[in-house]
Amino acid sequence: MAKEKENVTINDLIDKLKSYLKDQNQLNDIKKAYDFADLKHKGQFRKTGEAYINHPLHVAIILTTIYADSETIQAALLHDVLEDTDCTIDEMTDMFGSEVTKLVQGVTKLSKINFSTENEYLIDYYKKIIVGISEDVRVIIVKLADRLHNMRTLWALPAEKQKIKAKESLEILAPIAHHLGIHKIKSELEDLSLRYLKPDVFYDIAEKLNITKIERDKTVYEMMQEVTNLLTEHNIVHEIKGRSKSIYSIYNKLDKGKKFSDIYDLLALRILVNTEQECYLALGIIHSKFRPLPKRFKDYIAMPKPNMYQSLHTTVFGLDGYLFEIQIRTYAMDEVAENGIASHWAYKENKDAKANMQSTTEQKLQFFKTIMDLNNDKMSSEEFVHSVKDEVLNNNIYVFTPKGDIIELPKGATPIDFAYKIHTKVGETTVGAIVNNSIVPLNYELKDNDIVKINTNKNSAPSKEWLNIATTTQTKNKIKSYFSKNERELYIEKGKYMLEKELRKRKLVFSDFLTDANIKTIEQAIKADSLEDIYLSIGNGKNSPNGVINIIVKDKDIPIPKVVKIAPKNIDADIIVSGIDKVKVNLANCCNPVFGDDIVGYITKGNGISVHRRNCHNIMMLENRTVPVMWNQNSKLDKRYLSLLIIYSNIPDNKMPDIVQKTSVLNISIDSIKIVSKTNEVVYELGVYLKDLKQLEHLMLELNKQQYIYKLERLMR
Ligand code: MN
Repeated sequence: MAKEKENVTINDLIDKLKSYLKDQNQLNDIKKAYDFADLKHKGQFRKTGEAYINHPLHVAIILTTIYADSETIQAALLHDVLEDTDCTIDEMTDMFGSEVTKLVQGVTKLSKINFSTENEYLIDYYKKIIVGISEDVRVIIVKLADRLHNMRTLWALPAEKQKIKAKESLEILAPIAHHLGIHKIKSELEDLSLRYLKPDVFYDIAEKLNITKIERDKTVYEMMQEVTNLLTEHNIVHEIKGRSKSIYSIYNKLDKGKKFSDIYDLLALRILVNTEQECYLALGIIHSKFRPLPKRFKDYIAMPKPNMYQSLHTTVFGLDGYLFEIQIRTYAMDEVAENGIASHWAYKENKDAKANMQSTTEQKLQFFKTIMDLNNDKMSSEEFVHSVKDEVLNNNIYVFTPKGDIIELPKGATPIDFAYKIHTKVGETTVGAIVNNSIVPLNYELKDNDIVKINTNKNSAPSKEWLNIATTTQTKNKIKSYFSKNERELYIEKGKYMLEKELRKRKLVFSDFLTDANIKTIEQAIKADSLEDIYLSIGNGKNSPNGVINIIVKDKDIPIPKVVKIAPKNIDADIIVSGIDKVKVNLANCCNPVFGDDIVGYITKGNGISVHRRNCHNIMMLENRTVPVMWNQNSKLDKRYLSLLIIYSNIPDNKMPDIVQKTSVLNISIDSIKIVSKTNEVVYELGVYLKDLKQLEHLMLELNKQQYIYKLERLMR
């Protein structure tokens, strides 16, 4: 890995493409993309001193090694044009169509992600990018090739930046390549990262490999001859390769405490055959001659890895007692093992590689499903990005169900995490766990290759203690949501009880009162979605049982009084009461009308007139004592009106500072703010002083724009 300036040209790229792209139109499109990028980057140089165009050209060439399609190659050539030149999205769309442009836009956005940030606005943005990008997996593949070339030329950057880039490549990009099964890119990214992060270790291993190379090569060659003769004797057509382990994978084993001389898979062979049956046949033949090392045999054909990898693995005592790790697989499996999701490109007959890649990604890659699940869960953006980084991409273990399905979990996961990953219902009814045929406590730390069986009992329920046992954010959220759902049920029960009690007091029959029609009317009046919701709103105190009863039980014969307009000239009050000049007027504090609301007056016993909003359920049954009132548009009083808002947020964080800020910028003064309920949703009550309804509507509009707010309403008691 010298500081070579590999000078490549568009012709090198075209030569490589011609080996698998036969369509001249596609080659022309690619040439056009190159010319455009070349023009746009003219006069720009990389830190390495080369003309900038060399970078996208190299990225495109990397992608030819996995047989990327024409659109992807075009996007690779154009990938820095939107970011670094004056080219606009429209211009690019005109030239190359929306498909290519979308890919370039995706790569541009992805480049902006910095996983180590703490800023919540950025994190929110990242979440959108991660989820958005999932629409076309080719975006990620271009990004991986882009990073790979940047890592190859990392020597040109200052030491500090080298470390940052290398760390990010190792923690984010290489794991993504691994999960997508793109082994070639993953492995090179890892080796390059190690070289910059731990140069001593890297060069130490490289040197040791070098010293032992001649001896190893000789041993491997002899073993290859033996095995190939053996298989030929049994008429198995095959290809056999010696293979070298990557420096990073050796480092990993040394890091786990192994000695260099003990890493037996330094000697490794790969056998390729035509059919799955021949894989097992070859395995049997090899085992009959070379004794296998116990417990080292793995059948990833019957049980593919979560990134679709398939192969047989065995370790045998070979010639002169050397241990050999042998992989046996078909050519097709080899293609997937090397290129993963990108292997769809390799099959020429595969007309719609793009669609197949996307559907394989969505259906077969467990990490992808997990990310999408996380997105559907109600978790904050911080939790989401943290989970993706620490729990999905890194430090995974692989365990088995009793049926042999492989489940991917973060390191440190317990049987509780496993149970919830299988299904929420399994999680919630877990009573015990059996790992490798032994009963283990629920806080047992699962290890690679454990076989895990969960015992359930349908009458059992989660325990709050599990919140300490679960390790993934997803499991914890599921447990929390179980408990808050339970609290909801308690409120519903309480609300039902309160309503029944009040009906008895007023001598009303429960079943007469709750007819379907009446339920509908109440639902509309208090904006509830179901009978349960009505009970809930009584149980949690949002509505009084009497208020709800009053919606239905009222004198139906009294017509709604008409508003009589009178000249308001001489009146300085803000509310005009029909036909009366001077009377004591109060604003009702059950519904807190503000200037501009549709209002109605209620004649109290001895305390003047109280003014309610017309839809206030407290006056609905009292129409015979109401009197029309109206706002005095000419009022000279510069009065402020108290309004109470109920704000529902579906994320657990305290959003009070944000609500206060959003309100204050509108020049609205705040009377009070408090949290009135906190389960898996947080409910705030905000009291504000307003000029009029217009200002209130403006505030509600502004608050409704906030992502964390999913419902907003005026309080009515
Ligand atoms: Mn780039």
